[in-house]
Amino acid sequence: MASNLLFSVFSWRLGGSPNLMLRLQDKVALVTGAASGIGQATALRFAAEGACVVAVDLNETAMHETVTQIEADGGQAIAIAADVSAVMDVQRAIKVGIDHWNRLDIVFNGVGISGRRWGDGPVDECTEEAWDRVLALNLTSMFLVCKYAVQAMLKSGGGSIVNLSSVLGMVGGDVDFATHAYAASKGGIIALSRSMAVTYAPKNIRVNVIAPGLIATPMSARAQSDAHILERLTRLQPLTGGMGTPEDIAAAAAYLASDDARFVTGLVLTVDGGWTAQ
Ligand code: NAD
Repeated sequence: MASNLLFSVFSWRLGGSPNLMLRLQDKVALVTGAASGIGQATALRFAAEGACVVAVDLNETAMHETVTQIEADGGQAIAIAADVSAVMDVQRAIKVGIDHWNRLDIVFNGVGISGRRWGDGPVDECTEEAWDRVLALNLTSMFLVCKYAVQAMLKSGGGSIVNLSSVLGMVGGDVDFATHAYAASKGGIIALSRSMAVTYAPKNIRVNVIAPGLIATPMSARAQSDAHILERLTRLQPLTGGMGTPEDIAAAAAYLASDDARFVTGLVLTVDGGWTAQ
C-alpha cells in the first residue's frame, strides 16, 4: 500500500513516466536533425523531460512526424524547415524559435552526414567535393547554429549547447572507418566546442560534446547490413557487442542540457559501448 502510494507520487512528479525526470521543464530547446535518428530521439526525450522543442530539419515531412509524436505524448514542439548549412536559414530558424517561445535555453546540434556518396575516404582518395560538402554540412553548420544561438544566449544570460561529434573525431578509424573528411569535421566540432566552452563559461553558457560510437539509425544503414562490421562490434563496442540506440545518445544529451550538468562544460562525453576505452 505504502509502496503503491510512493509509486503514484513518483509517477505524477515525472509526468506519468516512472523513468523520466522533468529536468527541462520551462526550457526552450532547439534540436537540429530532429526528423531522424539521434536528433529525433533527442527531440522526443527533451520534450518528455518538459522542454518546449524547436525542431529543425531539412526533411519537413519526417520532422512533422516528430512534432506530432511529441504532441501525442503531451509535449510541446514546433517544426522549422531549414538547411543548417545556409546562414539565412539558421538565422530564420533561431529567430522563429525565439519569437514563438520567447527564449532559447538549449541547443542540440544533431545534424551530420556521411560523405561516402561524394567520395569521402582515406585522404589520398578523398575527393575535394566530399571534403567540401562534409565540412560544410558537419562543421560549418555547427559554427552557424552556435554563432546565432550564442548571440541570443549572451543577451538572455546563459544556456547549454550540446554538439554531436563521433568517436572518429577522437581516435583514428581503421580501413573500415577511413573517411577522413568526416573525421576532420568531427574533430573540428570538438575543438570548436572546447574553445567555446572556455570563452563563454563566464557568461553562463555551457558547451559540451557527445561522441557516439556506432548507433542504429538511417545514417548507419550500410553498417547495419554489413556482416563484417557487425561481427567487429564484439570487440569495438564490447559493452553490448552491438550498436547503440539513438535513445542512448538522447539520454546523455538530456543530462548535459539540464541543470544536473550545471558544473560541466568543455566535456567530450563518449557514448560508445567501450570503443575509445581501449
Ligand atoms: P540521420 O541520417 O538519421 O539523421 C540526420 C538528420 O539530419 C536527418 O533528419 C536529415 O534530414 C538532417 N539533415 C541533414 N542535412 C541537413 C541540413 N543541411 N539541414 C538540416 N537538416 C539536415 O543520422 P544520425 O545517425 O541520427 O546522425 C546524427 C548525427 O550523429 C550526425 O552528426 C552523425 O555524424 C552523428 N553520429 C552518428 C553515428 C551513427 O552511428 N549513426 C555515430 C557517430 C556520430
